[in-house]
Amino acid sequence: MRKQIAAANWKMNLTLSQAETLLNEIVATPHHLGENQQAVFAVPAIYIPLALEKLANKPHVFVAAQNAHQKQSGAYTGELSASMLASIGVNHIIVGHSERREYFAESDALLAEKVDAILSIQSTPIFCCGEPLSIREAETQNAFVEAQLKNSLFHLSAEAIVKVVIAYEPIWAIGTGKTASSQQAQDIHAYIRSCFATKYGEAVANEISILYGGSVKASNAKEIFSQPDVDGGLVGGASLIATEFAAIINALS
Ligand code: PEP
Repeated sequence: MRKQIAAANWKMNLTLSQAETLLNEIVATPHHLGENQQAVFAVPAIYIPLALEKLANKPHVFVAAQNAHQKQSGAYTGELSASMLASIGVNHIIVGHSERREYFAESDALLAEKVDAILSIQSTPIFCCGEPLSIREAETQNAFVEAQLKNSLFHLSAEAIVKVVIAYEPIWAIGTGKTASSQQAQDIHAYIRSCFATKYGEAVANEISILYGGSVKASNAKEIFSQPDVDGGLVGGASLIATEFAAIINALS
């Protein structure tokens, strides 16, 4: 049975004291995670040790990184590798967020290398895909997202692909307050799953968690997460407010 996941992406926000306050508030705010559910906190790299300490021994709760380099070590000043992250207890890494694709020119081919690096040490990539507004307006979002999946993931074996978490994030809905309707989310999630079914078979496709991202908040999470092919969310802005994110965790159905 595929996992349901509420993933927080703090992006490049908060000072140390603000991060500490938020983590304390998260721990103190009641939220429930069932057997098949997870909460994942992708905090800025500098706060990972703090998050690991504050969230230690919380069942079904994981600390994640927002990025990692495609090599495991070497002369890459300023970078962090998946093995370095794993060595301190971080086994979830966001790959290919639209902000990294856009501002850091991360290509599909580079993202394929990052996914391979993460899987090669048994960590979990949270692979982001999603279309810009112009593509949505032209109604070619399915082909656009399918190409992203093919170019970065379809070289993987069936055994490997089930270890990848997908985050579908329409760029026009990220940080804009505009959310895809629950029907729009369901339609493209079903399409994404059908792409995996065509490539790997139905059974494999049904094991892959597909999260929705784009202005998810406490008030809309339940409706979006109730769609049959939506397995949770990747959440930016609302993950910076403990009560909002706790409600989003509780909306995992
Ligand atoms: C994100 O950063 O992945 C995101 C979905 O942001 P927001 O929830 O703020 O739209």
